[in-house]
Amino acid sequence: MKLTVLGAVALPIVAAHSVQERHNFARQNAAAAPASSSVASVAASSAVASSAAASGSVVASGSAVASSAAATFSSLPTVSWSLLSTNPTAVPISDLVPGTLTTQPQLGASTTFAPGTQPTVISNAPPLPNWQTLSPASYPTLDRAPPTDSPEVQQWIKEVNASGIAIPNLAPTQPGGCAANPQFAADQSRCWWTCGGCVRDSDISDCPDPYTWGLTYDDGPALYTPNLLNYLDQNDLKSTFFAVGSRVISYPALLQEEYMAGHQIAVHTWSHPAMTTVSTEGIIAELGWSKKVIKDVLGVTPLYWRPPYGDIDDRVRAISKAMGLEPIMWTRISPTATFDTGDFNVAGGTTSASQVLQNWQNIMGNVSTLGHGFIVLEHDLFAQTVDIATGYILPDALAFTPKLDIKPVISCLNKPMSDAYLETNDNSSNPLPTASSVNPTFSSGQTGSAQATGNTSGNTATNQSGAVAVGVSSSLFMAGVSFVAFFAGLAVLL
Ligand SMILES: [Zn+2]
Repeated sequence: MKLTVLGAVALPIVAAHSVQERHNFARQNAAAAPASSSVASVAASSAVASSAAASGSVVASGSAVASSAAATFSSLPTVSWSLLSTNPTAVPISDLVPGTLTTQPQLGASTTFAPGTQPTVISNAPPLPNWQTLSPASYPTLDRAPPTDSPEVQQWIKEVNASGIAIPNLAPTQPGGCAANPQFAADQSRCWWTCGGCVRDSDISDCPDPYTWGLTYDDGPALYTPNLLNYLDQNDLKSTFFAVGSRVISYPALLQEEYMAGHQIAVHTWSHPAMTTVSTEGIIAELGWSKKVIKDVLGVTPLYWRPPYGDIDDRVRAISKAMGLEPIMWTRISPTATFDTGDFNVAGGTTSASQVLQNWQNIMGNVSTLGHGFIVLEHDLFAQTVDIATGYILPDALAFTPKLDIKPVISCLNKPMSDAYLETNDNSSNPLPTASSVNPTFSSGQTGSAQATGNTSGNTATNQSGAVAVGVSSSLFMAGVSFVAFFAGLAVLL
């Protein structure tokens, strides 16, 4: 069957985060009907958290202030921002109205590659498969948790069991993040990133070299990804794209374009659940199908992945390791402050575009004090997230002094692009995961710091220069972003 690309467009955009969101939506609605008051409630909570995280941040005067955006969602705070540079053709911030799905002219895929085309970026890569022979019927339903009784998943379960990597006997968490799981949140031995930021040595949260930015975009490929690719190409920038398996079915030509242009492709699950809530067999299905569809479209299998919402613990780590995937997170400078722009929440209405730019400004305020490079959470799923990236964040980063070295995460780790994929990795610089155990550490911890000691009290991180890091409490983030995603999807349906 020939894949009809356009026919599959609408649903995927709706449902990148659908499963958990519907649960959360139901929960929110039960607590506060009608739906509109739920929106206000969630938005207000998020605004409080954002304000707390940003308080104390001194913003240069004379900066643009977005007020029209906040007028739609009056509970959102009006914030100011000041960037070193913006794109002259940027969509005005006042046009990026929270709670709406902005539409922009969409660029089509710039290049369509003939089946069998030999990639040039990686010398030993296999030729490109023919994506037009892909049959969606051969894959699980888009944006739904894949069934675990299929022959494919049963085979992957056998392979995990045969890997020699022990899967810890940890119960899945309940949806709702830390607040819904106080016992698990307090259990340091679980090393649950969501609640306090515990990482293992195998987690990649930073780039080793100072002033190096491991550029990443999540949740695509999607409608506006070509707009982002066009900007990256114009500025000779390469990124890591964490692709949702269901999106790959919908936009296989876009995934090929990313790969052939020299961007790194990595796994972001099939249906985008919070992975600690999923059964072991379910996790195997999510990762297995995502690896398979990317291999079917590109001819190579990613060796890296990012857990949706950063939701990973030792059980999820072990399963992904047994499936040949290393986790890439984003930089965290305290148990509760991470380098998350919050761009995803603009479409859902809980964050203003101005707030995203202030978040970005705060991130940049911390870059010089890290002592190493960094990774930031951004998305290419919605028009707003791409507009903010190409109109504001990337131009500002390009104007930063000293000059930032912006590259895919695999490159910021000083590894060749061939190390990003199973078929091209020669094991010389990137040995595949082993069963060796590691001790928990806290990301980016300075001696005596909260990160290093694991003291998770306090909600605000202040660096040496007094700038305050961005980020909201994990539990709020988990509940908020889930509901927001559902609301965004609902807006598309309407
Ligand atoms: Zn995601």
